[in-house]
Amino acid sequence: MKKKFKGNLHTHTTNSDGDASPEHVAGWYESNGYNFLCLSDHNHLTILNDSDNNKWPLLIAGEEVTSLSGETPVHVNGYGIEKLVSPSESNNVVEALRENILGIIEAGGVASINHPNYKWALSYKELSQVDNYKFIEVFNGHAGSNSFGDIKRPSVSKVWDKLLSNGKRVLGLATDDAHHYHEFNSQKANPGRGWIQVFSEKLSKNSILESMSNGDYYASTGIELGEVKLNRKEIIIEVDEFQNSTKNSSISINFIRKNGILAEKTDGLSAKYKPVEKDVYIRVEIISPNGSRLWTQPVWMQN
Ligand SMILES: [Zn+2]
Ligand SMILES: [Zn+2]
Repeated sequence: MKKKFKGNLHTHTTNSDGDASPEHVAGWYESNGYNFLCLSDHNHLTILNDSDNNKWPLLIAGEEVTSLSGETPVHVNGYGIEKLVSPSESNNVVEALRENILGIIEAGGVASINHPNYKWALSYKELSQVDNYKFIEVFNGHAGSNSFGDIKRPSVSKVWDKLLSNGKRVLGLATDDAHHYHEFNSQKANPGRGWIQVFSEKLSKNSILESMSNGDYYASTGIELGEVKLNRKEIIIEVDEFQNSTKNSSISINFIRKNGILAEKTDGLSAKYKPVEKDVYIRVEIISPNGSRLWTQPVWMQN
């Protein structure tokens, strides 16, 4: 029987540009109900001795492999790495992405493209030329991440649909990218803004990373699911009404197919959809009027 485990995969500590110690950061996540956490410092492998595992969430080793190609930041998170990864020194963005991803894989980890819209660094053009990354941050809690795009440029969700529609089987994450743990306001990069809920047999590094790689999780900025069934025959989604403060009827559950086209939309707390072959993939994006969102992983109509 799988259980649901909450985690954040992107945080900084005083080992890079965060304003709190690794112990303080891990303590914040523990006391706020998180089951697992990745301390992803820039070009630094932050390891805490977690023998006292009541004090902190399960810690998954990670690093934000951080390079600058000319003026363009190329930030790739590595999860489950066993050694420090050196960032690429290439001035070519695509080359730097490839080298950072390769370094992560060689260190035993899985790679995630961070905040593609931060400084509008990574568009579909670059991301489509690179392979071997498993995840992309569809939401990043840092104020500069531009996760929802602007008038001229697409949201990361839209870029994700384009990647999916062109055959890239990438999965979507929501993360905090927290840097500030002492002063809380919208301009600070505070914890608690974006997380994932992983369906896993148990709370261990291998089990969590395996479920994540299988897409057995959802990403959220404030909405939680109750019952959920996601397969080729049928998709059933139930929003957990006790964990949502907004009026039930104003939540919209969107079923999105190939090319980011809305296949069906239901207003309310539950929805069903029967996928068809021509959908190619279906993913669910839930939008609440208070601005919170939830993204499921895509269900593919073919292996
Ligand atoms: Zn970054
Ligand atoms: Zn970061």
